[in-house]
Parts: sequence; structure tokens; C-alpha cells
Amino acid sequence: MTRDACHHDALMTIEDALEKLLLPIVAVSEQKYCPLLQAYGQVLAEPVISALNIPLFDNSAMDGFAVRSQDLQHCDRLTLQGKAMAGSPFNAPLMPGNTVRIMTGAAIPQGADAVVMQEQTQSEGEQVRFLVKPLPGESLRKAGEDIAKDQTVLPRGKRLSAADIGVIASLGMEQVQVIRPLKVALFSTGDELVAPGNPLKDGQIYDSNRPALVAILKSLGVEVVDLGLIEDSKAALRSAMLRANECDAMISSGGVSVGEADYTKAVLEELGQVHFWKLAIKPGKPFAFGHLGQCAYFGLPGNPVSAMVTFHQLVLPALRKLSGQSPRASNILQAICSEELKKAPGRMEFQRGIYHRDAHGVLQVKSTGKQGSGLMTSVAKANCYILLAKDKGKVGVGEKVDIQPFDDLQW
Ligand code: AMP
Ligand code: MG
Repeated sequence: MTRDACHHDALMTIEDALEKLLLPIVAVSEQKYCPLLQAYGQVLAEPVISALNIPLFDNSAMDGFAVRSQDLQHCDRLTLQGKAMAGSPFNAPLMPGNTVRIMTGAAIPQGADAVVMQEQTQSEGEQVRFLVKPLPGESLRKAGEDIAKDQTVLPRGKRLSAADIGVIASLGMEQVQVIRPLKVALFSTGDELVAPGNPLKDGQIYDSNRPALVAILKSLGVEVVDLGLIEDSKAALRSAMLRANECDAMISSGGVSVGEADYTKAVLEELGQVHFWKLAIKPGKPFAFGHLGQCAYFGLPGNPVSAMVTFHQLVLPALRKLSGQSPRASNILQAICSEELKKAPGRMEFQRGIYHRDAHGVLQVKSTGKQGSGLMTSVAKANCYILLAKDKGKVGVGEKVDIQPFDDLQW
């Protein structure tokens, strides 16, 4: 062991922690077929390859008239030859000097090479007068212009969005092969904690971490095994942690700070390999990570904001990898700080901020106010983290800072 690793106060950077934590995480490999209507948020186990051209055939982008564009170079009137509707094509070739009334999505008749929108025409009995001269290809949607046959449309590891579901449906597929959803166990520790809805005795507080974390986990579409409130005793911790064998990941909050970690540490050492880290971040210093058998274990600090920050910054990327998703870059933006931010060099800070785009299109950010690690409203009011580097001191008005919009913390 290096001197640093033994050193009581050695703090690990968030980058090191993330690297150490992601390395041993192995994606779940079990797959299942999933009906398309239930596939939103699931992770593709195989790429989606198109068996079709999309659009399937050349079709009209407008309600109007299909023409041979050349015909309108020398005259402005064509004879109406018929009608093409979406779902009922005009089945004869378009004759020179003629036009076919056509609706959006209808197949382009053979011979036609452009559509003129209705608003640029005047009907005169069996004749149609054209107010414009279209270019070849105008208002046409060409076969295969969106998706070509045999093309990989969506890669393996893609978490399916609503648009992805639409794309897959357009290919005529009614089910997809997905990686089975994660099963994640969750519990809170602390003798002072009481579940909401129950009366508080002296010195007790409500357990707010578990409801908040259940909410995030549900939004991720994982199956949550809520193990409830676990008292600070070896027996209770042991029986909770033994449930790890039925889960892909286990998340606890509380009981990882020095001294207090004694029970947790003893039971974790008995049941698996878990390391206690002190992170060079604020809030969120103590953090535990390891494995209980095959199950990844994440021990979050108890302070509600610290639990949230460490979940977002460390657990979320790990769950993403565990779920089989391909890695993606986070969307860090730059904003101008519109007020002074307190900060001492030493630890990276994840301050909670509110950003907006000002009248000049510039992103501005300000703090949500007091930044204590127990002040959950500082997160509730925020729409981003303000990322302040380890060695940075206070931030002046007008300085540029990195922000991480909360939208980036989906997965
Ligand atoms: P710990 O990490 O267990 O030392 O807890 C640090 C602080 O967070 C203490 O003030 C705890 O009372 C508080 N805390 C721990 N767990 C929770 C929880 N689940 N909900 C709300 N506060 C908590
Ligand atoms: Mg505690």
C-alpha cells in the first residue's frame, strides 16, 4: 500500500473514484424479447437493422399536384389526369401535359418528378393552372431518404427514447431484443430515522433519502427492491445485505462516515469486498463501493444532498454501464456567474444552481442559496450543478463556470 492510501486524510478525486468504480462493473447480459409498446427506456441488446427503405416509396410531401417539371418550363396549364391519395395510389403513368391531384404521403405516379403545393395552383375545370415552375424533386420525399434498407438504425446499447420507438415501429417491428432491466435494492441506515407518516420521538428525523432515491430509480425504469429502514445493528445489516444475491446493485445511505461505519464495515467485510473512500468533493465526502458476491454495492453518505450528489455523479454512470448502455459524454455547459460563489480550495464542489438563457442568448447561473449538505431544498430549487474545480477559490460575478444541467442526469 502506498503511503497515500494509508494516510488517514488522503482524499480521492471524483475522476479517480469514477474510474475505479466503473472498471469492475460488468453489464448484465441476460436478454429478453420485449413488445414494442413496453420497450420505452429499455436497452437494446442487439442493433436494429432495417429490412425496409423508409420512406418505402417516393411520396408527396404536400397536398397539391404531381407534375413532370419539364412540362411547366414552357406552359402553365396541365390537364387533370386523376387522383392519388395516401393509401390509394394512382396506378397509371403520368402522361406528358397532364397532372395528378396528390395528397401528402401518396405515392408519386410513375413519370412525375415534382409536386406543386395546392396554394400555388388554380383549378379551372379539367385544367390546372400553375403559378410557379417547380424544380425536379420539389416537395418529394424520396424512397430511403430517412433510412436505407439493411442500414443499422439503432446500435446495441441504446436506451430507447420515444423517437426510437417510432423509428422501430416504422420498420414494422412489433418487438425488440432488450437487456433485462436492472434490479436494484435500496435501504437507509440510521437509528434516528423514521419513515414518513409516523410520529417522531425526541432526536428522530424522517428518512428522506429512500423516497428520493426510489423516485430516481423508478424514473430510470429499474426494478426497485425497497428494503426499508435498517437499524444500526450487525444482525439487521446482515439480513439486508444478504438480499444482494437477488439483485444487480444495492444502494444504502448513511453509516459510511468514520467511526459510524463500524457496523456497516464489519458486515460488508464479512459478506463481500467493499472499500471505504473519502472523496475530494463537497458535498459527499464518505462513500463506499464494492461487491457483495456479483452485486455491486454503493454506500452513499447519509446527508441528503451528499447522497444525491454521489448518486448522480458516481452511481448513475455505474448503473448505466451495468444496464448495458453504451457510454456517453456528459453535456457540460459554460455559464456566466451572476453572483459571487463561496468556495475554498481543496475539494471539488457540486453547488446547486439555477441557470437560464438571458436576452442576449448567454447562459447565466446563480446559486440556489445556502449550500449545506443537509439542505435538500437547495437541490429541489436547482436545475443544474455548478461544477467548481478542486483548487478553485471563490467565484466572482461575471466569471465563467461549468454547469451540468439536471437534464444531463437522466440516463
Ligand atoms: P451518516 O452518513 O449516517 O453519518 O448521516 C449523516 C447525516 O445525514 C445525519 O445528520 C443523518 O441524520 C442524516 N441522514 C442519514 N440518513 C438519512 C436519511 N435516510 N434521510 C435523511 N437524513 C439522513
Ligand atoms: Mg447514520
